[in-house]
Amino acid sequence: MNQPATRRKRIVVIGAGFGGVSFCQSFPEGLADITLVDRNNYHLFQPLLYQVATADLSPSDIAEPIRTIFDRRRDVTVLMDEVTHISLRDRQVTMQRRTLEYDYLVLAFGARTGYFGNQDWARHAGGLKGIEDALNIRNRVLTAFEEAENCPDPEQVRRLTTFVVVGGGPTGVELAGALGELTRRVLRRDFKNIDTSQARVFLIQGAPRLLPPYHASLSEYARQKLVNLGVDVRISARVTRVGPQRVELENGKVIEAANIIWCAGVEGHPLARTLGLPIDRAGRLKVEADLRLPGHREAFAIGDIAALTDAKGAEVPGVAPAALQMGKYAARAIAAELCGKPAPPPFVYFDKGSMATIGRAAAVLEIGKLRMTGFFAWIGWLIVHLAMLVGFNNKVSVLTEWIFRYVTYRQGARIITTPRTEELLRDVAS
Ligand SMILES: Cc1cc2nc3c(=O)[nH]c(=O)nc-3n(C[C@H](O)[C@H](O)[C@H](O)COP(=O)(O)OP(=O)(O)OC[C@H]3O[C@@H](n4cnc5c(N)ncnc54)[C@H](O)[C@@H]3O)c2cc1C
Repeated sequence: MNQPATRRKRIVVIGAGFGGVSFCQSFPEGLADITLVDRNNYHLFQPLLYQVATADLSPSDIAEPIRTIFDRRRDVTVLMDEVTHISLRDRQVTMQRRTLEYDYLVLAFGARTGYFGNQDWARHAGGLKGIEDALNIRNRVLTAFEEAENCPDPEQVRRLTTFVVVGGGPTGVELAGALGELTRRVLRRDFKNIDTSQARVFLIQGAPRLLPPYHASLSEYARQKLVNLGVDVRISARVTRVGPQRVELENGKVIEAANIIWCAGVEGHPLARTLGLPIDRAGRLKVEADLRLPGHREAFAIGDIAALTDAKGAEVPGVAPAALQMGKYAARAIAAELCGKPAPPPFVYFDKGSMATIGRAAAVLEIGKLRMTGFFAWIGWLIVHLAMLVGFNNKVSVLTEWIFRYVTYRQGARIITTPRTEELLRDVAS
């Protein structure tokens, strides 16, 4: 394919999550023509999804239209379409509506909820990865209480008001804490026939402690805080089977619950497996030290879809800062190549620390050897998450919601958006 030497290079970026957006924002303007493809028209701030699921925030608080982010970049074209096939050999990306050719490719399509090979469990235990998932959880949780309020059978009420969160990592801990608060404090005044504080929230963790990557003292703090919120925390409890409204544990215990939420793992996007390249056990693409795909110097994988032990020997985690840093790095690498400059040194992940909230006014925070818990850790969590949210409007509306909620214990987004379809009712109530 001979092209005139003057033609600007075409870069196709798949995915407008943290990695894809960071790549486009960091790439020098005017140096190439970038096409950013996403199946959604918004960039989603996944770390606050659990607050949409528990009716704290609305979807628009944590999503920003991709076009708005790049409205001033003439070199970035945004296409809303789903990529269905990638040919590394022909340098083509096939979407549902058309096919794009590229000189450089950046794969940033992230991960999806993983069920450790038990994909059929997904029917009974939805994950929390996108806005649809969060709204599904919100609708189901609120519908369960509506049904319980209207139900004369105490056994049925007990099942309707039992919630199981599987997975004691940051997402599971944050979600279980928020559910504990919702049932114990927020909803109490709303219902007359049922006492929502009697609702049971289980957090099931296979490992011997919550938040395994954190220091043991922080794990214990999180456990204690959850217990105070009424959450029944089960550690070293492996799930052996998930069926309709029931979870079976290794020790033979069965929990019957109208709502089961799966936060126990993620796996690489299925597109990664179609490339015929090495992948790790979680289905992520193994990349070279400079984030390029083996044998394809023009193609990069960044963020959750990339598996890498960096040049300093650290396994790069699937978190937002890693995706942001990888996006910046890939932009630097391609820009250097186009400008005839030396390539940057191999990618090294800079760990800025980790944090998670446990309900209202409590959090754990770990930055190197610094460890914090409680109110000030929670303030730190609020500041970092507000700073990372894309879009000034989102920052203002989320801050306003948080202040309102802190003062009043009320949650604004307690509405069921799915019509009371027979399917939803049957699913929750049967
Ligand atoms: C509930 C939850 C809570 C989290 N909390 C935290 C936290 O507190 N701190 C933290 O650091 N990290 C957290 N993470 C992890 C963090 O969100 C991810 O590491 C980060 O989003 C990865 O960025 P990414 O760009 O690789 O992928 P993503 O942000 O997932 O973006 C992938 C993009 O690709 C698009 N896409 C996928 N397939 C296609 C296709 N076929 N065609 C077109 N577009 C496609 C998607 O629509 C999406 O926009 C959390 C994740 C979840 C799910």
